[in-house]
Amino acid sequence: MHEAQSGLECPLCGSTAHRDIGVNPDFSPSRILACRSCGFMRTSPMPADSELAERYRQEYRELRRERITDLFLAARGLRAQAQHSFILGTAPEWRNSAELDVMDVGCAAGSLLEVFASNARILIGYEPDERMASAARDRLAGRAEIRNRLLDWPPPDERRYDLICMSHSLEHTREPISTLSHLFEYCNEGGRVFLEVPNETLATVRTLCDRDTRGVFHLHFFQADHLRRCIELAGGRVLRIGTFGDDLHAPPFLGSGGMRRIATGVSSRFFRSARARQARLSRAMFYENPRGGIWLRCLCARWN
Ligand SMILES: [Zn+2]
Repeated sequence: MHEAQSGLECPLCGSTAHRDIGVNPDFSPSRILACRSCGFMRTSPMPADSELAERYRQEYRELRRERITDLFLAARGLRAQAQHSFILGTAPEWRNSAELDVMDVGCAAGSLLEVFASNARILIGYEPDERMASAARDRLAGRAEIRNRLLDWPPPDERRYDLICMSHSLEHTREPISTLSHLFEYCNEGGRVFLEVPNETLATVRTLCDRDTRGVFHLHFFQADHLRRCIELAGGRVLRIGTFGDDLHAPPFLGSGGMRRIATGVSSRFFRSARARQARLSRAMFYENPRGGIWLRCLCARWN
């Protein structure tokens, strides 16, 4: 265990006291620090934008091996349906709307945009991965505009959105608070932001470091209180937040690797057939876990 370094402020509470958890396996030699005051964990030093771009372009793809197969799309489709249900459960006035302007930042192959197609007037997706963006374009031809890049900042036009989604992307950003404030700037009056991130505790992050697990590529590690604080610091307020999926500490789905393991078809005694796997994944996706699940889901809005 390394001693706390001075001069490094926690972005959430400003404390400079932290615990060194170990090397972040995907960003070696950068380390993961846990704030001693609020517990928020972040990578330090934060890799430069150029290094991040390079790592996401090369290593991220190689290590994650996400191929756009039927199984991958089925798993993403289930997650999108669960997210759609969460969002409309918190915004019931949107249930019968076909007039929403929706943007998905990090839309991958377009699964979430697809489930919102019947509610939407306009669908915009940002996706930096060329293969994913191309798949999204093919699947949503004529229904969505897919932009093969990171979110534009400042906004390129006057358009603002009713709903902005960011699923499993915020943990990969260098500055989540400013990213969230950008998302709020993109909201129209009454607009909402949906977020999903892995729910990660000191124990799961320690396991990640101890096992030298590669392919996760998280720069920040959220629990509900941390996500809430980030939203508030970005000028937003939480409308609903909850944890979903398998128990955080129950094997074999440790942390954020669960989705990837399922999607890549790793066999185990729990999964004897594709149908059983789909059924189990579907239950997990929709299951709000009072003991603490592996995903945090949140709907929030700008304060004013
Ligand atoms: Zn802190």
